Amino acid sequence: MKKEMICIVCPVGCHVSIDTKTHEVQNNKCKRGERYAKKELLNPTRMLTTTVNIDSIHQRRLPVKTTDAIPKEKLFDLMDLLESVEIKIPVNLGDVILSNVFDTGVDVVATMSLKD
Ligand code: SF4
Repeated sequence: MKKEMICIVCPVGCHVSIDTKTHEVQNNKCKRGERYAKKELLNPTRMLTTTVNIDSIHQRRLPVKTTDAIPKEKLFDLMDLLESVEIKIPVNLGDVILSNVFDTGVDVVATMSLKD
């Protein structure tokens, strides 16, 4: 059985396919597409960018992001976790909001500084 996907490594956007048993990749124009397809089949990961609540009457949300990609199946769990977070400001760019989420070694950090 083949799984079809669009390689997002570069703007060319090759429509690659990967055999789910042999892991043979087709229609990729370069090796990066092969690596992408195998990772996407065997261990898909994603970066998360979102916002969290802050305790301020002047500003409503703080933009945050993961420092690296996390397993795709953990994205909604992380969104739920971040929904329960309320950050005290001031906050500086790069401050760690959550560390080592789900034991992935990945942190969630602020992507801007905020003062009240
Ligand atoms: S396979 Fe290579 S050329 Fe095609 S989208 Fe992926 S990185 Fe770009």
